[in-house]
Amino acid sequence: MKSKNLLLTFYFLLLIFSGCVTVPRREALLEYDINGTAYLPLITYCERQGINWDYDIVTRTIILNKGVHKVNMRAGDTLVLIDGRPQKLSLPVDIYQGTIVVPYKFKEQVLDNLFVRATPAYGKPALDLRRIKKVVVDAGHGGEDAGAKGKTGLREKVVNLDIAKRLASLLKEDGIEVVMTRTADRFITLQGRVDIANKSGGDLFVSIHSNAHRSRSVNGFEVYYISPKVSDTKRALYASRNGAPLNIDPKCFAGQSENIKTILWDMIYTNCRAESIELARSICKQVGNGGLNIKMLGVKNANFQVLRGARIPAVLVEVGYLTNRTEENYLKNSYYRQKIAEEIRQGIESYASGLIFAQGDKR
Ligand SMILES: [Zn+2]
Repeated sequence: MKSKNLLLTFYFLLLIFSGCVTVPRREALLEYDINGTAYLPLITYCERQGINWDYDIVTRTIILNKGVHKVNMRAGDTLVLIDGRPQKLSLPVDIYQGTIVVPYKFKEQVLDNLFVRATPAYGKPALDLRRIKKVVVDAGHGGEDAGAKGKTGLREKVVNLDIAKRLASLLKEDGIEVVMTRTADRFITLQGRVDIANKSGGDLFVSIHSNAHRSRSVNGFEVYYISPKVSDTKRALYASRNGAPLNIDPKCFAGQSENIKTILWDMIYTNCRAESIELARSICKQVGNGGLNIKMLGVKNANFQVLRGARIPAVLVEVGYLTNRTEENYLKNSYYRQKIAEEIRQGIESYASGLIFAQGDKR
């Protein structure tokens, strides 16, 4: 019996080597040996694993994303952003024979873990898979700075604080840690708010405001992110020159020039802007579909100091116009303010769990 099996195996092997039988197997990824290190072609890998990729030929920046995860890297650099957090590779991402290549170890230790093993097949990812764990909620104005004022006397600082508090408790219910810039009617400078956001270790900054306009007929809901006119490179230079703390082992920079910090800050700011737009879109989409009977003015950009200074994805929500009679009346109503807070929370949640991508939205 045993010898028969052996014989069969022998014939089988003979057939394989003679080329008569091809054993179906997944073709291994091509590997390159660059100065003794194994590298592999990134785009082929992404296409096999269903990872979306985007390459900017001018900045040589590569962005990968799938599900809730995202990796930013740059050809020639050892610094990468993994879900917005900087990490340093021992060897750089490179270009070899005209194609982008990454060290095999990086694929195995990082990319496979993020994109191949941890991607849920369906449904909402588990809490620890979400990319948002802590949110900074900023109630605009306060104290001597009352902000906008409605015709019946409703003050912006009061509306903002109420909605911010409601939003904070809703997020906490979802297991998200919340840092508030103020919980009472007190004055905080814009820089003070930025400092709280940057020191908080938070993943997002959400500032709540109510709007005003000379014309009383203007109304609606809008969400702002930092203007594209604000240069990421200038912000990066400023951050590295002023020793802005990087969430990365200082040993990584031992003996390196300031330049590398600037490159990293540039990547962080560029990533923050993209994430802020995504968050703004998610909030608008949610509020627009929330049955609030509110005009959707949509996603806009502006050079607001709190947005410019934040080193994490940041949006400024204008919940409505106090100068508009109807919206002032709405905003007086606690049920309405609760509903607004709930829709903003849902917008943050959709963004956090990557559902905004999963629903087939164009990035
Ligand atoms: Zn305001």
